Amino acid sequence: MDFELSDEHRMIQETVRDFCETEIEPIAQEIEEEHRFPAEIFDQLADLDMMGVPISEEYGGLGGDTLMYSLVAEEIGRVSGSVGLSYVAHISLASKPIELFGTEEQKERWLRPLAEGEHMGGWALTEPGSGSDASDMDTTAEKREASDSEQGGVAAEKDGDEWVLNGTKQFITNASEAGSVLVKAVTDPDAGYGGISTFIVDPREDDGFEVTTVWDKMGLNASPTCEIQLENVRLPEDRLLGEEGDGWEQTKKTLDGGRISIAALSTGLAQGAYDHAKEYSQEREQFGQPISEFDAIRDKLVDMHRKIERARLLTHQAATTYDQGEPVTRESALAKLDASEAAREVAEDAVQVLGGYGYTTDFAPQRFYRDAKLMEIGEGTSEIQHLVIGRELGL
Ligand SMILES: Cc1cc2nc3c(=O)[nH]c(=O)nc-3n(C[C@H](O)[C@H](O)[C@H](O)COP(=O)(O)OP(=O)(O)OC[C@H]3O[C@@H](n4cnc5c(N)ncnc54)[C@H](O)[C@@H]3O)c2cc1C
Repeated sequence: MDFELSDEHRMIQETVRDFCETEIEPIAQEIEEEHRFPAEIFDQLADLDMMGVPISEEYGGLGGDTLMYSLVAEEIGRVSGSVGLSYVAHISLASKPIELFGTEEQKERWLRPLAEGEHMGGWALTEPGSGSDASDMDTTAEKREASDSEQGGVAAEKDGDEWVLNGTKQFITNASEAGSVLVKAVTDPDAGYGGISTFIVDPREDDGFEVTTVWDKMGLNASPTCEIQLENVRLPEDRLLGEEGDGWEQTKKTLDGGRISIAALSTGLAQGAYDHAKEYSQEREQFGQPISEFDAIRDKLVDMHRKIERARLLTHQAATTYDQGEPVTRESALAKLDASEAAREVAEDAVQVLGGYGYTTDFAPQRFYRDAKLMEIGEGTSEIQHLVIGRELGL
């Protein structure tokens, strides 16, 4: 398989790297400590046309491929896990499904502002009682005629059908900042996987949508992780994404793409941690020589490099497979599993290379270490990736 990067890939990679080093890296620790979502960074990413990299130009995107998008996600991850997580959730979870499954009108109304970076997007699958077993959800969407609603004791004029959503969604990235959230809900409780549908909710306009918690986390605190409550949220029919009952199939396809971006982000986290460790090891002297000259430290850095190269190859393999329109479930799960473990291991080693300084918040490795842990949990835990890969291998 050919992972050759084109001139365009390299140009985008360099542009984003430059931006990340000058604009994001200097504030990465500060926004983490302040638990602040850096809206200004996303505005600047929009100015660079980065908020819709793999979305068609027809709907305001850059029209790039998944490989290009992976390169961008990796570069952002190299400086900030928080910005990276909000970024990939916005693109692969909140935007891509509208491009894949939406009508022309939905793409104009909901995809364009996401791709142009007018606002952020979110994607709500997980619930307090269902995470890995995501289809076992309690959120419901019932169809009611609009005339069901009473206005001042008089039945409102019938103007077509509406969906009414009720439920709680947990750990939803970007929900507090979003202009649209794709919500999964049960539309037919007797139909199993075929009874789940996807709805486009406008958190700012739709009554009954409320962010009830923004979680404090061990890392990634500049990326809001929200609990949301849906209480009698009434939606017109044109908020259904795709066909009724398609929600689970859409989820599987969305996660196939989403896991590639978590793999790319993880590769970036690992690279960022490695870069700091390598530089430090060549400057720090003990016993009269740079610590990089001790076999133990050199071997650690070599192993860190080896893991990053492997994670990147698997990520690019999955991205290229996706771009070729081939089935990608095995490749994306493999890349996600491998790269997320690499990120945690490499970041841990980076803390070790920096010794006591590595344990302080004056140095970046601790942040990469804390951020990397999520990559083994979000979009399917490592245990679930093993299940997915095992199934793909016929085991
Ligand atoms: C920072 C953050 C951001 C997130 N963003 C989003 C988002 O934007 N949208 C969204 O919908 N969700 C999001 N999530 C939710 C995330 O995808 C879930 O947390 C994850 O899928 C795990 O679900 P759970 O937390 O309920 O854990 P559980 O499913 O309860 O799992 C607990 C443990 O049991 C293990 N386990 C469960 N089932 C099995 C099994 N069959 N075999 C072996 N082991 C098993 C798991 O691997 C895990 O170790 C986010 C989570 C976090 C922390």
